[in-house]
Amino acid sequence: MRYPKLRELREAVKSLFSKPYTTRFPAVPHQPVDGFRGRPKYFEEYCVGCGACAEVCIGSAITVTDPSEEERAEKKGPLFRKLEIHYDMCAFCGNCEAHCITEKGVQLTQEYDLAVFDRKLAADQVQKELVLCDLCGGIVGCRDHLQWTAERLGTLAYGNPSLILTTQKPFLKVETGAKGGELRRPDMMKILCPKCRHEIVLKDIWG
Ligand code: SF4
Ligand code: SF4
Repeated sequence: MRYPKLRELREAVKSLFSKPYTTRFPAVPHQPVDGFRGRPKYFEEYCVGCGACAEVCIGSAITVTDPSEEERAEKKGPLFRKLEIHYDMCAFCGNCEAHCITEKGVQLTQEYDLAVFDRKLAADQVQKELVLCDLCGGIVGCRDHLQWTAERLGTLAYGNPSLILTTQKPFLKVETGAKGGELRRPDMMKILCPKCRHEIVLKDIWG
């Protein structure tokens, strides 16, 4: 057709005097709607370092990195577990938030603009101090996680020497054991990984 249809002409003229349907992002910041699933973020004060969020992440966007055996053997000070969310692999499903054991350690925010030039910057992380086995140097858990567990168990926590020694250490004068050497019954009153505790119990019962 040589001339535009009248209907199209009318729409074109109307659009000159009406507001645009699209937003002016990024010139004007975008205001997400309520319930919008934006970038997940760690909240250090609520995260206990359990790693459950990484287990349920559907996109393998969360990594948990612990010190290697060599780093643990050379330990000169506190060692930490690093939890990291990689936004470039996140599907914003909300599973991490829904299954966080403290319910607030990781939360989806309203943050909308995730554009970066370097993919390594598309990440958020948190670090949590680890508690190691007094005998073998294996990882028992994160200090905050053990504290959190002991608080929920209440007096039942006294059934587990590792929990009590971790949470009450400032009040207990208990010698923490030397690594290696033969396992002895008194070693039960040390901070132990499940493997060492199991071995001591077997030795105590069966000799
Ligand atoms: S929102 Fe979903 S995909 Fe993204 S980090 Fe959480 S669990 Fe993983
Ligand atoms: S406390 Fe929540 S955010 Fe922290 S590691 Fe556990 S599940 Fe993840």
